[in-house]
Amino acid sequence: MEHAKSYYAASARHKDGFPALDGDIDVDVAIVGGGFTGIATAVELAERGLRVAVCEANQIGWGATGRNGGQITGSLSGDTAMEREFKRTLGDQAPNFVWDLRWRGHDIIKNRVEKYGIKCDLKFGQMQTALNKSHLRELTATFEQGCARGMQDHLEMVPADKMGEYLESDLYIGGLLNRRNMHVHSLDLCVGEALAAQSLGAQIFENTKVTAIEYGARPKLVTENGVITADKIVLAGNAYHLLEQEKLRGKLFPASLANMVTEPLDADVARAINPQDIAVYDGRFILDYYRLTADNRVMFGGGTNYSGRDSGDIAAELRPALERTFPRLKGVGIDYSWAGLDGIILNRIPQVGRLSKDVFYVQGYSGHGIALTHVLADLTARKIAGEASEFNVFENVRHWSLPVGRSMGSLMIAVGMAYYRMRDRIAS
Ligand SMILES: Cc1cc2nc3c(=O)[nH]c(=O)nc-3n(C[C@H](O)[C@H](O)[C@H](O)COP(=O)(O)OP(=O)(O)OC[C@H]3O[C@@H](n4cnc5c(N)ncnc54)[C@H](O)[C@@H]3O)c2cc1C
Repeated sequence: MEHAKSYYAASARHKDGFPALDGDIDVDVAIVGGGFTGIATAVELAERGLRVAVCEANQIGWGATGRNGGQITGSLSGDTAMEREFKRTLGDQAPNFVWDLRWRGHDIIKNRVEKYGIKCDLKFGQMQTALNKSHLRELTATFEQGCARGMQDHLEMVPADKMGEYLESDLYIGGLLNRRNMHVHSLDLCVGEALAAQSLGAQIFENTKVTAIEYGARPKLVTENGVITADKIVLAGNAYHLLEQEKLRGKLFPASLANMVTEPLDADVARAINPQDIAVYDGRFILDYYRLTADNRVMFGGGTNYSGRDSGDIAAELRPALERTFPRLKGVGIDYSWAGLDGIILNRIPQVGRLSKDVFYVQGYSGHGIALTHVLADLTARKIAGEASEFNVFENVRHWSLPVGRSMGSLMIAVGMAYYRMRDRIAS
C-alpha cells in the first residue's frame, strides 16, 4: 500500500523505494516491520556484522513512524509504572534507569544522523506548556528533577510574561523549555536509517508482507514471494501487526492519533508565531502538539478518538484547536491531514518478550515512540548479539492482558480516554 497522504510522504527526500523479496534467502536475523523499531534494530545488528533482512508489508515508514508529530522528547507515559516494575530487576537503581531511558534515544538518533549524514530536518528545542496551575506545578517538579540530575543547562522555566518570546499565543501561563529535546522529519529519518542499514549489507524489502511464521530449529518468515530462514526473528509491526494474535492477544490495543499540516506560511508569519522554531505540546493527558516544518508550515496534532478507527474529518476536528492557539492563523489552508495507529499498552510500558526462544517481539509505545523505539532496538540487538543488555529489565515486566479482541480493547481504551479528556476540560 502507498503511504498515507501525509506531509511526510509528499516531502520525502528519498522516493526510490526498496525492492520486494523475490525468492528464498537465509539470514542471521529477520525482522517483520519497517518502522523505527524494525529499521533501528536492523541498523544496530548490521553495525555488528550480522546478516539482516527487514520485511515491510507496505513502504518503509508506512505505519506510525511516517505519520507522527516528529517530536523527540523525554516523555515516558509509563514512567511511574516503569519505576515500580523495573525495581524487580534493578532494585534501587530503577529510578536512575528510567531517567536514563528518557534520554538514551536522543543520543542514538543524534549520533546516527551525524554518522550517516541523514538529512531529516533534525532540530533542537521543545517546550511543554502549562494551561493551568496544576500543569505549572508538574512542570516545576520536572524542572527541579532535571536540575537535580544535572540537566540545568538544557532546561528553562519560562514564566507567563516571557512566553511571547517563544510563542504568539495567549493560551499558556508558562512553559518548560527543553533544549535537549528535538523535532524531525520522521519519515526521512526512518528511510535514512534504512539506507544506512542497507549500506552495511542489510536487505530491506518493501511490499513484502509476512503471512506466517514457522517455528523450528531455525524459524522462517513466510511471504508470498519467498521464505526467509533465520536464527532469530524480531516482530516489530506494533499496532499494525496482525500475526500470532493467539499468542499476543490482549496485550496491545491500537489507538488512532491524528495530524494535520497547514499550507506554507510566509516566513515572517512563521517566525512571529514560533520565533525559536521549537516543538510544543501542552500539559494535558490528551494533548495538542505542534511545530513548524522546514518549509514554514504548522504541523498540528492531537489525540482524536483513540478508538483504533480513523476519524471522519481530521482537519475539521483539529482546526479549532490550531486557531485557538494561534488566532492569526484563522482560516489558514490545510494541505494535509491523516491518522495513524500506535500501540497502547495498559500499563504504558513498551512490551518486549519472546514467543519462542528465537522469536522476539517489541511493541507498544503509547504515543511516545520515536526515542523509545531506538532504545529498545539497541537493547534487542545487544541481546541478540549476545552482549550485555538491559533487555531483561523490560522482559521481566508483568503486563496485564485483557481477555478481549483488538477492537473491544481499543473501545475500552477510548472510554478511558474520554474520561481523561473530560478531566482535562474540567481542570483547564
Ligand atoms: C499520529 C501520530 C503521532 C505521533 N506523534 C509522536 C511524536 O510526536 N513523538 C513520539 O515520540 N511518538 C509519536 N507517535 C508514536 C510513534 O510514531 C510510534 O510509537 C513509533 O513510530 C512506532 O514505531 P514502530 O516501528 O514500532 O511501528 P510502526 O511505525 O507502526 O511500524 C510498523 C510497521 O510494521 C509493518 N507490518 C505490520 N505487519 C506486517 C507484516 N505482517 N509483514 C510486514 N510488515 C508488517 C507495518 O506496515 C508498519 O509499517 C505518534 C504516533 C502517531 C500515530
